Amino acid sequence: ENNGAILTVADLHAWYGESKALHGMNFHVKPGELVTLLGRNGAGKTTALRSIMGLVRRKSGAIRFADEELSHRPAEFIARRGIAYCPEERGIFASLSVGENLELPPVIATGGMPIDEIFALFPNLKRRWSSQGTKLSGGEQQMLAIARILRTGAKFLLLDEPTEGLAPVIVQQIAAVIQRLKEQGYTLLMVEQNFRFAAKLADRYCVVEHGRVVETFRRDELDAATHKIEVYLGV
Ligand code: ATP
Repeated sequence: ENNGAILTVADLHAWYGESKALHGMNFHVKPGELVTLLGRNGAGKTTALRSIMGLVRRKSGAIRFADEELSHRPAEFIARRGIAYCPEERGIFASLSVGENLELPPVIATGGMPIDEIFALFPNLKRRWSSQGTKLSGGEQQMLAIARILRTGAKFLLLDEPTEGLAPVIVQQIAAVIQRLKEQGYTLLMVEQNFRFAAKLADRYCVVEHGRVVETFRRDELDAATHKIEVYLGV
């Protein structure tokens, strides 16, 4: 099934101190796919993204990306491989302007998205070029956070709850951006609590429970599985 995967996570365990957060997680992502991790608070979704990014100190198992084992590599090595992470708390520089945020990207791979393409995706950011991060709305901050990781040149994007706390109209705008990124060939792994948002976008959905992927659904299986997924999510 996972032939041709660009990312394979196999038997991943992760700990925070003595407390275990991932208990043998398995999933894969193919090139050009959008895979969504669904699950309740505390299920381990964020820890999975942080583990891939090299941000969890104690872990075991395999994280293979483009035939290279990353699980023992430091975060900056992983970033140079073209993987970028947009954390739930967004990771922008609040005291800097939009322009400064976009011109000070984190570790660069090659081929960062040019500013004019950033503006085409996020017209608001052009209007807000000189505004300080703290003056932006939640939606603008989220867009800036995504724009920043596009500036790194990464083509594999990890997005942690990009719609959290945002108004429905902004959620729709972010969905449109994610759809366009998919069309442009980006590969995405996304954590999303907002199942209705995720439902329109992803190719596959991995349900995470107690630090494991307990079930995976393709988009065409979603209608039949909606009730089951809602039970998993406790909605
Ligand atoms: P959420 O949507 O709330 O972020 P999640 O599915 O992403 O949920 P994680 O954040 O990965 O879940 O958390 C998995 C487990 O690890 C939880 O039990 C959580 O309490 C614990 N955990 C997360 N971060 C830390 C930390 N920095 N120190 C200790 N325990 C942590």
